[in-house]
Amino acid sequence: MHSRKIVMTLNQSTVYRNLKILIDDGWLRRISHPSLGTLYERTGTGHHHHFHCRQCNRAFELPGCVLKEDNVAPDNFVVEDHEVFLFGICPSCVRYDKA
Ligand SMILES: [Zn+2]
Ligand SMILES: [Zn+2]
Repeated sequence: MHSRKIVMTLNQSTVYRNLKILIDDGWLRRISHPSLGTLYERTGTGHHHHFHCRQCNRAFELPGCVLKEDNVAPDNFVVEDHEVFLFGICPSCVRYDKA
């Protein structure tokens, strides 16, 4: 039991080191999810937002962006990036609810 825990810790640090390399190389990007914590996703899909289904706890990618950073931030704030999470119920959970 004890040795199993050590192995898991070692694996985890290896995972984090590899994640960091992938992020530094621009293959992955970090997302701060308000309730799930840090998530990672592949880059290359372009800027987009996320939808979190409260029913099945899955995160979906939403294409595109409608947010105009310069209009949202007050004067003298320099916006460098933003993340948007929408919360609700995904299509398959809506169907399940109605069934
Ligand atoms: Zn769902
Ligand atoms: Zn956006």
